[in-house]
Amino acid sequence: MTKDDCLFCKIGRGEIPSATIYDSPEFKCFLDISPASRGHALIIPKEHYDDIFHIDGDTAGRLFSLATVIARAIKDETGCEGMNIVQNNGECAGQTVHHFHLHLIPRDADDGVGISCWQQGETDSEESKALAAAIKRRI
Ligand code: AMP
Ligand code: ZN
Repeated sequence: MTKDDCLFCKIGRGEIPSATIYDSPEFKCFLDISPASRGHALIIPKEHYDDIFHIDGDTAGRLFSLATVIARAIKDETGCEGMNIVQNNGECAGQTVHHFHLHLIPRDADDGVGISCWQQGETDSEESKALAAAIKRRI
């Protein structure tokens, strides 16, 4: 299923132009229009899934497998030292385009890219064990 009014569905169908890195019947990879760093790319499934809570595991698995190939190509081309793989779900988590996508963000030392900057919290080991067990029961 695709959505008529979804920006990334339109990019997937080629109705909106993109700087395309990869194009197959199932996936498209293109450069982010407002990149966090040079080579910042997005991988989308052409089929519409809102987010991680809706995409099926097999599709997500194939998409991530593709990400390993594209990550190496971006690294080879840009010479980046590292890379963040970012995937936002829900407005509260920073998702602005509600069509599942994976960010590949090349990183270099002292590049000033503002990722991985959350405040580290504290844990109570008993509460953590109970929470882990409760989540496990839902799998
Ligand atoms: P997110 O905030 O995780 O939903 O990411 C959405 C990303 O889509 C942002 O990084 C935008 O810069 C990017 N974006 C929005 N419109 C376009 C477009 N037409 N072509 C390429 N990237 C886009
Ligand atoms: Zn869509």
